[in-house]
Amino acid sequence: MPKILIIEDEQSMARFIQLELEHEQYETVISGDERNGLELAENGEFDLILLDIMLPGLNGVEVLRRLRLSSDVPVIMLTARDSVMDKVSGLDMGANDYITKPFAIEELLARIRAVLRQSSAAKTSVIGGDKDILTFKDLTMDCARHTVTCGGKPVELTMKEFTLLQTLIENASIVLTREQLLEKVWGYDYFGEANVVDVYIRYLRSKLETVSDTKFITTVRGMGYTVK
Ligand code: CA
Repeated sequence: MPKILIIEDEQSMARFIQLELEHEQYETVISGDERNGLELAENGEFDLILLDIMLPGLNGVEVLRRLRLSSDVPVIMLTARDSVMDKVSGLDMGANDYITKPFAIEELLARIRAVLRQSSAAKTSVIGGDKDILTFKDLTMDCARHTVTCGGKPVELTMKEFTLLQTLIENASIVLTREQLLEKVWGYDYFGEANVVDVYIRYLRSKLETVSDTKFITTVRGMGYTVK
């Protein structure tokens, strides 16, 4: 049974989420204190963390930043403020998703299911044998040989396209901003146009579309790109 840690100082909210999750047969632990919550999250026994942004001491984004130094456990941020900045900085720090309070419990449950599904899919593909082989849905990347196949059919990619696709797959289900992709694929010293990312995403999509009907790359409006 998936185990979920709820880091939320507001007791009534935490308890409400806990009751709903337990009703869905999840195991849950509440931490109302962000330092204790961070410690619990780091120890690796949870399958997913629900992390409130508004905490009395450390801000939730800071908790996430510290957590990401040692753990890639899936995190869904809870935010009371419908602030684009919070969402972007949460996603920048590696949140898998976020939900704005007040939310319908069904929406939270759906997001939890989606994030758990993605994380178990990503785990199988990384653990699945050879480290040089990266798989995602019907895509297989051989990072040593720099070859890509989709549904068994070869896809010819340039070096940049390959690195871009590899970066997206290694971060499957995490939204990467254009800036992050620029940095990871083109490097800190890249001084060209920022829309180079959009251009290469377009190239990649059109090459992948010629061999598969699967839509691998999703555009998250105002944020960036992800594969899921
Ligand atoms: Ca709170």
